[in-house]
Amino acid sequence: MKYFVKIKEGSLIENERAGATMSTYYMGTSKEVFFEVYGLSNIDVEKVLDGKIYVYIYNSIRGGGMKASGIVVKQPLPDDEEVIMLLREKVNAIKIRIDVKRDVKTVQHSPIPKYDYEYENTKIECFVCKMDIMTDEIISDYDDDIYRENICPNCNNSDCCELEYEKLDDFLERTKQLNKV
Ligand SMILES: [Zn+2]
Repeated sequence: MKYFVKIKEGSLIENERAGATMSTYYMGTSKEVFFEVYGLSNIDVEKVLDGKIYVYIYNSIRGGGMKASGIVVKQPLPDDEEVIMLLREKVNAIKIRIDVKRDVKTVQHSPIPKYDYEYENTKIECFVCKMDIMTDEIISDYDDDIYRENICPNCNNSDCCELEYEKLDDFLERTKQLNKV
C-alpha cells in the first residue's frame, strides 16, 4: 500500500530571498583592545584583569612599558566604557583603543526555493514489522556508502513503506479550492 503524505496547511512560507544563492550569517561580535601599560608584564596584566581580557601580544617600549593587545573574553561582551574603565583602573593602561569586529560568514548554496513547507506527520504501517509508525520518524541515510531509503524506526529495515509526497502545485490547487468555500 502506498501512503499519501499531505503538505501541512498553514505551513507554507513564501521566501523573501527566493532565488538567492548566497547567504550571510552573523557569527557574533568580538572586541580587540590595544593599549599601553607600564611596570607590568603581560602575565601580570592578565592576572589583574582576572581572565576578562586575554592579553596575547606585547612589544616592549622605552621607559619600562609595553604595547599590548588583547581579546575581550568576558561574556556577555561588555560595552566599550566598561573595557576602558577596567584597563584604566586595574592596570593604569593608557592609549586605549577598541576594535569591534562583526564576524560574518558568507555561504554559497543552491537557489532558495520560492516556498518552504512542511509535511503532515502521518501514521502509516511498516511493510516489514507491521507496526504503526509516524512519517517523521522514518529516515533515509547512508550506511557504508549504501543509500538506505525509508528506514523503519522500529525494525530498522529500509524500504519499509512506499510514500508519495504531495506536490506543491497540487497543494496550492487544493487549498485554493478550500479557500473558495
Ligand atoms: Zn518496521
